[in-house]
Amino acid sequence: MVTCPFCKIARGELPSTIVYEDEEYFAFLDIHPQSPGHTLIIPRKHHRWVWDVPNVGAYFEVVRKIARAMQEAFCEEIHSRIMGEEVPHAHIWLYPAPGRATGDPRDFERNAKMIREALGAAGS
Ligand SMILES: [Zn+2]
Repeated sequence: MVTCPFCKIARGELPSTIVYEDEEYFAFLDIHPQSPGHTLIIPRKHHRWVWDVPNVGAYFEVVRKIARAMQEAFCEEIHSRIMGEEVPHAHIWLYPAPGRATGDPRDFERNAKMIREALGAAGS
């Protein structure tokens, strides 16, 4: 979808603070964070809903890997949400339970680095 903002983010045509990427999936920080490290995980390919994503098990494995890293980086209680009405491209929210993680939610570079380092430490 040419005009979809998440497609543009996944192609690097719009800036984002990248948490994780591979050939099929892309994770970046939400610009309106609920708490420090609030991450969106999307398939690179455009699908309207999470339930439209082929091989959704592989998608959720990536989500779990990032959630584990966020547990390492921030706190044990990582929340997730699947809604989808705000941007018409499949996405899953992961964010530390509000009030449990220390740090400024808008310190994007620091928060992304903490997750990336925890992902690296897990030997992904
Ligand atoms: Zn899209």
